[in-house]
Amino acid sequence: MSDRAISTLPPGSTIGIVGCGQLGRMLIQAASQLGYRCHVFGQEETGPAAQVATKFVAGAFDDMAALSAFAKECDVVTYEWENLPGSALEVIGREVPLHPNARALEIGQSRWNEKSFVSDLGGGCAPYARATNAQELAAAIETIGTPAIIKSDRMGYDGKGQIRLQAGEILDAAAIQQKWEDLGGNDVLVEGFVNFDAEFSLLIARSADGGMRFWDAPQNTHEGGILRHSIVPGGEDVAVHIPAARALARKIAERLDYIGVLAIEFFACKDGPLFNEMAPRVHNSGHWTIEGALTSQFENHIRAICGLPLGDTRLIEGGAEMQNLIGHDIDKWPDLMGDQGAHLHLYGKREAREGRKMGHVTRLL
Ligand code: ATP
Ligand code: MG
Repeated sequence: MSDRAISTLPPGSTIGIVGCGQLGRMLIQAASQLGYRCHVFGQEETGPAAQVATKFVAGAFDDMAALSAFAKECDVVTYEWENLPGSALEVIGREVPLHPNARALEIGQSRWNEKSFVSDLGGGCAPYARATNAQELAAAIETIGTPAIIKSDRMGYDGKGQIRLQAGEILDAAAIQQKWEDLGGNDVLVEGFVNFDAEFSLLIARSADGGMRFWDAPQNTHEGGILRHSIVPGGEDVAVHIPAARALARKIAERLDYIGVLAIEFFACKDGPLFNEMAPRVHNSGHWTIEGALTSQFENHIRAICGLPLGDTRLIEGGAEMQNLIGHDIDKWPDLMGDQGAHLHLYGKREAREGRKMGHVTRLL
């Protein structure tokens, strides 16, 4: 059912969102502007999306009966978190149209799957090798060399589930066994370290009729594996790579028969753009589109999954920049509330833990 063509869902229909984080919250804000109702399925009753949903259903992502009952009350279902079991999507897809489809999630939730998929389409990636046990990890490190990053194949985000290996670092069997265990004892990828000139992402919306729109590509800065800052337009280092990156993105979206917003992260290197990872959903590097573009990533995702025409993605002003508020950055809220150029978004999370995304600020340039 997930792959069938979609008819237009009129305002007043119910959109189901699996996951209750800030991406879901901003999807709901866009959907409610267009007159839709949103039900949220997730584990945290106080989660950012749960707080603003028409209805919140508490349940585990492997509770098939609860997921099925949730889907029955919705006219379409989407997800804001990609670490869902494939069986969850299968259950949902039996009841109601699901976008993006299960195959997009299956590819996007595994670094191995997405890199293999993109390599098959002719896209370049950093050198990588997979390991399914500690012995294979030793062999993969040998093949790739150092510096390198060991990344868990699944479940990683915000730099979690990653261990960096310095140039020349030599590891004996016991040290490798330890790293294997530190990463949870699940499949990992060893990735060669890339000396990139810059990082950027592409945000793409694809509608049910196959129409595609790109937003300006943000140039992104990460600290400790977490996105800190995005700016559009990006610098010259980024601009030269946009045509090649877009050509690859088009192929990815078409091959997946994708419906919704898709985000793809790239490293800008001397020889061209290298694919880093993709997310089958709206993305932190696209938050600036709320104020910075004629139509936001959130609205176009809703439009795509409801079978509506996509909105114009052009910049409103000359550009925009977005700064994440991470952990105790949120303590600056009184100053930001008084800053006339700051568009402040707070996610309603109670506790400002280190490394936790608490909100963001967008400024038009
Ligand atoms: P998120 O989901 O928040 O985007 P993530 O945990 O999935 O992050 P990655 O995107 O793989 O992780 O890595 C986070 C950041 O670490 C990258 O944006 C980049 O700055 C750096 N990084 C990752 N892989 C490499 C690499 N092979 N070479 C150099 N830097 C890298
Ligand atoms: Mg990333």
